[in-house]
Amino acid sequence: MRVGVLALQGDFALHARALAKCGVEAVEVRKPAELDAVEGLIIPGGESTTLLKLMDAWDFAPAIAKFHGSGKPIFGTCAGLILLAREVESPRQFSLGLIDVGVERNAYGRQRESFEASGVATLDAGPVQLEMVFIRAPRIRRVGPSVQVLAEYAGEPVLARQGRVLVATFHPELTESTTVHRYFCDLVGRTRVAA
Ligand code: GLN
Repeated sequence: MRVGVLALQGDFALHARALAKCGVEAVEVRKPAELDAVEGLIIPGGESTTLLKLMDAWDFAPAIAKFHGSGKPIFGTCAGLILLAREVESPRQFSLGLIDVGVERNAYGRQRESFEASGVATLDAGPVQLEMVFIRAPRIRRVGPSVQVLAEYAGEPVLARQGRVLVATFHPELTESTTVHRYFCDLVGRTRVAA
């Protein structure tokens, strides 16, 4: 099984490391055509405005929409979530709209721009404790009816899924735990078997 990591900007290398720990081959994706060779895609954290500019230069948006349309799973963390959301505010900017949530960028204010917390996620095997690292994180302000909230922090969704799109406002790749990556890889594996 091969999972792509969008490698235009941001902390893609740490996602590749987390995938390797799950025993999955990570492929750095820098051009849309490289999406053909992978069964799932991770869009890492970074700076969403910069990512958008780089994606635009390679015309990535239609390629990712096509990838999603073909049923392949996508996981976005932090800036990756911002790119996948339906609406983005603070300020408003283009997004792919592949998951029915509304997000506000940099929404924890100056004092709490970056912090760590722990919370409980409800994944396939039941409740599991998660360490969460938030870095100038967005907040999910609206959750559509088809979106499943998998974890919350302070009563707000921080890990959510709609079908084959998984998003996190935090950075699971910055902890030693591979729980969230394993959950995503399982989703990729199941999709692959079903195809
Ligand atoms: N603040 C960034 C943005 O708005 C996201 C930060 C991150 O990915 N850690 O794009």
